Amino acid sequence: MAAATGLRMGVVGGSIAGCAAAVAGIRAGADVTVYERSAGELRDRGLGIVIPPSLHGRLVATGYLDAAMPTAPVAGRVWLTRAPDGSAREFARQPSPVTPCNWGLLWQALRTASAGARHHRGLPVTAVGRTASGGAFVRTAQGENTYDIVVGADGHGSLTRRVLAPDLRASPAGYAVWRGTLPVDASAEHPGPLQLLRTSWVTIGFPGGHGIFYLIPRGEDAGPDERLLAYAIYATPPAGSPDGAGHVRQLADEHFPREWADIVARGEHTAMTCHPVADLHAPLAADPPFLLAGDAAGVTRPHTASGAVKALQDALCLEEALRTSASPAEALRHYARERTPEGARLVELGRRLGRAQVEQTPDWTAMDQGSVDAWCRATLAGTKSYLYADTD
Ligand SMILES: Cc1cc2nc3c(=O)[nH]c(=O)nc-3n(C[C@H](O)[C@H](O)[C@H](O)COP(=O)(O)OP(=O)(O)OC[C@H]3O[C@@H](n4cnc5c(N)ncnc54)[C@H](O)[C@@H]3O)c2cc1C
Repeated sequence: MAAATGLRMGVVGGSIAGCAAAVAGIRAGADVTVYERSAGELRDRGLGIVIPPSLHGRLVATGYLDAAMPTAPVAGRVWLTRAPDGSAREFARQPSPVTPCNWGLLWQALRTASAGARHHRGLPVTAVGRTASGGAFVRTAQGENTYDIVVGADGHGSLTRRVLAPDLRASPAGYAVWRGTLPVDASAEHPGPLQLLRTSWVTIGFPGGHGIFYLIPRGEDAGPDERLLAYAIYATPPAGSPDGAGHVRQLADEHFPREWADIVARGEHTAMTCHPVADLHAPLAADPPFLLAGDAAGVTRPHTASGAVKALQDALCLEEALRTSASPAEALRHYARERTPEGARLVELGRRLGRAQVEQTPDWTAMDQGSVDAWCRATLAGTKSYLYADTD
């Protein structure tokens, strides 16, 4: 008999990892309850999320994502820097097929696919713990419920993770990422960047950091081909608390090719956030009856573009483990064996990419195709990343 037969599964957190884990549980035959602290519409958190095309295909084929969810796939990556005259100098191109998504649409698709679960919104979990019979309890303002397994999908500050790893703390990278979206008409006066972004995602290198640009579906009630320009700019913030909008505009003005600076510095941002970059990973991704998924299990520096990817892969692994194991405990041990080393690998990869692309940036003005390819290979040091397909 499979582990999920008659299984009661509680999920703490109803974002990307929580909804994906709920789909996994439902598909394997479990009775699933999701607790989400936020009462608002999570789809409003929308920014850009890139995932590998192969994972997108697999999620559509297995029913986690609706094939109608708009995406904005591109096949390659272009590296730019500012030339002395302020124009854009393209210094490398690499094959790098990616499927950019709108975070809000991705969440909405997973939420729809997990409709077979009981979803509580605006109901924070205040405690989780073990029961005498080997299960777990979840406590909220409405009382306590018991489950055979509890999935901690409660993000980077996870309360569930504290049961498994009470002393774990995040390691700060010492720099920040400014992340935002702009309407594509911000680039109407500059057709060059927009044309490039229709086929590629773009990295702009500058001393002490870089910016990543790509198009995502606009979301909300927009047509499937309408786009937003998404960006993530990595740099060390000025001393004191960083002024998001002001500093990112100044960085763009000082360091970006003129056309790109115009878009970022003068565009009306649809959304903008600034986060300090940090990472952590739990020493064990599951210890029955608890399992950690998504950022609760580990946060990597965003250069790997892998947080949501990992949450989705966590769910696929959970489904397989539940289907093929003889007991819930065995399923969770199977999950821990597969997902714990993956979290550690991604944290290491994020650190190497951060060192190379922010902490010790090369002289971008001297880079060319050969040196970029060699530098990427050296940074990856034999590990794989879907963003660097050509270095496999
Ligand atoms: C700049 C940047 C760029 C990124 N780009 C990419 C990318 O291109 N590709 C990619 O794959 N990933 C990317 N990521 C990472 C990705 O955004 C995250 O890893 C992912 O969204 C994490 O999802 P999650 O569901 O694990 O966590 P969260 O989205 O943080 O969700 C946790 C949920 O748990 C709820 N919660 C917390 N505590 C409780 C509680 N006590 N009770 C009930 N509910 C609770 C919260 O309200 C929240 O809804 C990026 C991240 C950053 C910062």
